[in-house]
Amino acid sequence: GMPAAPPQPLAPRRQTRQIKVGNVLVGGGAPVSVQSMATTLTSDVNATLQQIAELATAGCQIVRVAVPSQDDVEALPAIARKSPIPVIADIHFQPKYVFAAIDAGCAAVRVNPGNIRQFDDKVKEIAAAASAAGVPIRIGVNAGSLDKRLLEKYGKATAEALVESALWECSLFEEHGFRDIKISVKHNDPVVMIRAYRLLSQKCDYPLHLGVTEAGPTFQGTVKSSVAFGALLAEGIGDTIRVSLSAPPVEEIKVGNAILESLGMKERGLEIISCPSCGRAQVDVYTLAEQVTAALEGFPAPLRVAVMGCVVNGPGEAREADLGVASGNGKGQIFVKGEVIKTVPESMIVETLVEEALKLSVQMGIE
Ligand code: SF4
Repeated sequence: GMPAAPPQPLAPRRQTRQIKVGNVLVGGGAPVSVQSMATTLTSDVNATLQQIAELATAGCQIVRVAVPSQDDVEALPAIARKSPIPVIADIHFQPKYVFAAIDAGCAAVRVNPGNIRQFDDKVKEIAAAASAAGVPIRIGVNAGSLDKRLLEKYGKATAEALVESALWECSLFEEHGFRDIKISVKHNDPVVMIRAYRLLSQKCDYPLHLGVTEAGPTFQGTVKSSVAFGALLAEGIGDTIRVSLSAPPVEEIKVGNAILESLGMKERGLEIISCPSCGRAQVDVYTLAEQVTAALEGFPAPLRVAVMGCVVNGPGEAREADLGVASGNGKGQIFVKGEVIKTVPESMIVETLVEEALKLSVQMGIE
């Protein structure tokens, strides 16, 4: 009844310097963290805190909020104080907002110094203020906002262009001795994005924030992010991840956590192992799998529950499962740890599985 031990990692994690985003360590061997961005108006403190609470409940560890106006700046102290997870202020162009975000108690600021260089000595002042407050900076380069100079040099937002841009932005802070930095080099094409992060990981030891920009609606965005993050994380690249979806941010967190669980980089929660069904199936596997998933949603024990369409291969295929069902002739063979313990009518399958799951979790000491 012990949860399966995490598999051996695919590759050693790349050694990065560690930064601290509030109480979350990023880089330097810390577990890969999952983050998202609020979609509320930041100036609406209650709505923003409500969404942050939902994100935190879903397993979000760091949240970013957009700060495009003075009203948003004024909401930051209350949000930073009441949020259960560290808040990163996302700022473009306005150096005074950066100082305000640091004063407000934000755990980090996302800002591209290239955008604020034109304001005389502001980069130096920001480096000093961030340093004094222990606030790290994320430098976020993406295809859409690539420096004009680099667009001309490379013709388009290539991996090389993204990396050169990010390292140049870093150098503007490094000139002032500031290295409390993490970097992202996002692109909407996973191929370019993967190449960019690989290149960047060879050229610096800053922790990396992985993201595919404008990844799209849930299905496409999930596939793009899973493929891109999977390729990089399997090589040990990536210290924190943000899945971007044109969907509510809680969905981003579910996908992000599922990616880490799939790679054995995060302890798995309850897992439904259902067969794809085939001509031998004697039950509607899709519906049964959905019913079992719904009945066990939020179940605390990290059980693997198998839902199999037939008794011929079902239990054998699901040997790795803690419990499960193999259907046949309007009945369900319920098995626990590979042994058939009883056979119940089809209408009782879901409740029997829930009962057995509860028994197992009691045995595991999780209630
Ligand atoms: Fe087909 Fe049975 Fe395997 Fe499901 S468990 S895929 S129904 S053989």
